[in-house]
Amino acid sequence: MNLETFCQSLPKVELHAHLNGSLSTDTLKKLYKMQNPDSDEVENLLTDMKSFSSLGECFKVFDIAHSLTITPEAVFHCTYDTIKEFRDDGVIYLELRSTPRAVHGKMTKEEYVEAIVKAFEACKTDFPSILVKLLISINRKQGYKAAEENINLAINFLKKYSQYIVGLDLSGDPMTGDAFLELLRKARTAGLKIAAHCAEISNEMETIDILEFKPDRLGHCTCIHPTLQGSDKLFQMLLDSRIPVELCLTSNVQCKTVPTYEAHQFKYLYEAGHPVCLATDDKGVFRTSLSREYQIAGSTFGLGPEELRELSSSSVQYAFASEHEKQVLLSKIK
Ligand SMILES: [Zn+2]
Repeated sequence: MNLETFCQSLPKVELHAHLNGSLSTDTLKKLYKMQNPDSDEVENLLTDMKSFSSLGECFKVFDIAHSLTITPEAVFHCTYDTIKEFRDDGVIYLELRSTPRAVHGKMTKEEYVEAIVKAFEACKTDFPSILVKLLISINRKQGYKAAEENINLAINFLKKYSQYIVGLDLSGDPMTGDAFLELLRKARTAGLKIAAHCAEISNEMETIDILEFKPDRLGHCTCIHPTLQGSDKLFQMLLDSRIPVELCLTSNVQCKTVPTYEAHQFKYLYEAGHPVCLATDDKGVFRTSLSREYQIAGSTFGLGPEELRELSSSSVQYAFASEHEKQVLLSKIK
């Protein structure tokens, strides 16, 4: 079996996927047609997306996806389709993350989350081979008030939908806003797990604050890289923390936050035996899949089938699932 076929058939666990960035071209087209039944502008829209390359430009793609997910119906469809696509790629466990949105006159933040949960419930029946959970995101760019609102919403929904809503994600453009650590503390006390995007850009003070807060998982950690000048201390701090890191190879290369796959921090963290998992970040924006990320890791870092299978099964340990659910997932991978 060649590497591509092996990675496709390997049961995989996706722990870092933003709903809006995961929307495929097909889903975006479908949403566009739903809202603009008489227009043919879809092709232009999607051609524009292909030319985006820098980190700043990549964030523009989210604006396009956002402009199309403005009703509960659209949110339901995009969630449902995204889960189906992950399932088709051999993913058996998926944690989606999304920032609750209110659209004046069309949708409240509560309705946004309810629409996602409704899609989860539909998929539970239609695609029983994939287990799905939700992390409520707080977006740095939206400021303190929105972050507080989203955390309160997550805490309220946790009581109602504890089988689906499991955690909180700190995300958004790292060049703006802060980490809202006191709010994250409140969420943790309420029983939510915390995943935090960390060190996407070089910001030593904030990185130390986040590491000391000890989230349950970290995203990227691009600027905690042993070859970056002055980063030795942070790298050691990360290794000592043993906090699992979600690594998104293609996302980082396409956004040019790492120069090449070979130079990706995966290499250093993996070699140091640090807990890591592979993830897509935004499979729609970066035109990738989790199978493809496994394949790239295999060919770039010389990992064979057994090592890739081990990577998948160790990722189960870092999932925000129950112990029973983890046992079931492990038995499927082994
Ligand atoms: Zn991310």
